Amino acid sequence: MPQRILLGDEAVALGAIHAGVTSAYAYPGTPSTEIVEYLIEHRRRHGHPHATWSANEKTAYEEALGASIVGRRALVAMKHVGLNVAADPFMSSALLGLHAGLVLAVADDPGMHSSQNEQDSRFYADFARVPCLEPADPQQAYDMTREAFARSEEFGAPVVVRLVTRVAHGRTTVEIGEPRGENPVRKHSDPASWILLPMNARRRWVSLLERQSRFQAWSESSVWNTLRINPIRRDLGVITCGIARAYYTENLDDLGWLPSHLHLGAYPVPVSLVTRLAAHCERILVLEDGQPVVERALRGLLPDRVNTAGRLTGELPPTGELTPDTVRAALGIASRPVHVGDPGVLPPRPPQLCEGCPHGHALRALSAALDGADPQLVTTDIGCYTLGALPPWNTGESCVCMGASIGMAKGAAEAGLRPAVAVIGDGTFLHSGMTALLDAAADDTPMTVLVLDNQATAMTGGQDPLVPSTRLLDIVLGLGVPPAHCHVVDAHPRRVAANAELLRREIAHPGLSVVIAVRECKEVARRRNRERAREAAAGAEATPVSGNAPGECPAILDEIGSGVGAIVSPECGCGSCRPPDPYDWPEAAGEES
Ligand code: SF4
Repeated sequence: MPQRILLGDEAVALGAIHAGVTSAYAYPGTPSTEIVEYLIEHRRRHGHPHATWSANEKTAYEEALGASIVGRRALVAMKHVGLNVAADPFMSSALLGLHAGLVLAVADDPGMHSSQNEQDSRFYADFARVPCLEPADPQQAYDMTREAFARSEEFGAPVVVRLVTRVAHGRTTVEIGEPRGENPVRKHSDPASWILLPMNARRRWVSLLERQSRFQAWSESSVWNTLRINPIRRDLGVITCGIARAYYTENLDDLGWLPSHLHLGAYPVPVSLVTRLAAHCERILVLEDGQPVVERALRGLLPDRVNTAGRLTGELPPTGELTPDTVRAALGIASRPVHVGDPGVLPPRPPQLCEGCPHGHALRALSAALDGADPQLVTTDIGCYTLGALPPWNTGESCVCMGASIGMAKGAAEAGLRPAVAVIGDGTFLHSGMTALLDAAADDTPMTVLVLDNQATAMTGGQDPLVPSTRLLDIVLGLGVPPAHCHVVDAHPRRVAANAELLRREIAHPGLSVVIAVRECKEVARRRNRERAREAAAGAEATPVSGNAPGECPAILDEIGSGVGAIVSPECGCGSCRPPDPYDWPEAAGEES
């Protein structure tokens, strides 16, 4: 079988392509972004499938539903908190009469590497009463995505593929199968199953409940759920979910024996497999990355004599990522020796805005405008500029969810605290800030909104904005903000004093004002310049970028004389440390292109 080296996210994308997906929609969010990035690149090279960024996760889900209603397979991708935004169409889509595969790929972020919470999307699948698949590695991400489309069509329900960061961003070889063609356009044959008026919705809800036994039977016999009983020992059984299997098997040599083991990759929880394990074991340890979804389910399934252990009982920490070491401790194995380095070698490096980031210049202007105002409130939002809440900017006292800055500033101003200023990026404003600004415009709330327009969704890799900067002002005016109090300024360092003066004036205005501070993200500008240089160089005679053999990177030097290499120039440009191009492979036999 042909193989490719893929991230878990890329494996989901390629699985969808090979399952015959016609349309894919997403809002970028770590750790899910690379799914639709891969599809967009595939479309650029091969002309299919349709893949695009949407304004937010709700519109992405609805657009995928639109593809599904006409019989085409559709993928929608998002990070876990994005599913809160898409929850409305997602929950109701479980009741629809789907006749074309609809797959939701959702990437959770246990440990909150780049998120505001660590909610577990398996709860959402259970809440909506739809099947869920949880890959343990990129190979399973590919295979399960393909299966998810097939099961969605078979069951007439959306299927969730739940990833976690270490699977989404893990890179391994993936064996790929024969591609399947796309579905033809074919509208559904039962219009009532798509019109969720109460009389239809009640019928569809009963239909969904009736299909639960089919979902359950599939899960009980799924190849992704495997049970191995140790006939000799009864003291311990282990349940692993998704990536937890890797952490468990990594520790087995040191455990020295093989407990009975149930691995789960398909949900609903297979009751008969769990019951067989419980019938054989006195104690069951549940290893799952995220929240104790299976551990909680066991409490309603197993007799009291079976002792269950996991995050709820303290064998595993209640928060944070599962790791090989936490699994090791839960199995009762002595911890491995830890090498504690000299903290002086690597000084603490708190996250900060890039050098010369335009957000910094805008935040300096805002700080100057608010200087001396006491009390004052600056609500901020989700983007690079959230770092403005940290020194040296210290600008921002809240960050809750996409778009919350505007609604919260409105609520604070109406509760009597002024000045109230909301800081929000252009992407976040278009995602979820516009509706809150509509509320503020309707009431002419005495508050100021500072929109930081860096012309990219910078935090997730610099995706293009949904609409160009030039249209942002029209959108703000169209929402009803008074034109006299709506301004576009340049977030240039030389404009800080003038921008501060304008902000001071607008903050003093007893009504709503909006200031849009425009300047392109430095990283995006740098990347574009590099691409231009590469394109220009492509016209000249090709010369090797570096004459170094692999392992002889000139940027890695024994600078501190300790025998430990240090990277002294992260931009050496030789490219030998660059990950392999996941597209740079011959097309599989028979693949459409
Ligand atoms: S990526 Fe762009 S927007 Fe983000 S901190 Fe860096 S320069 Fe600023």
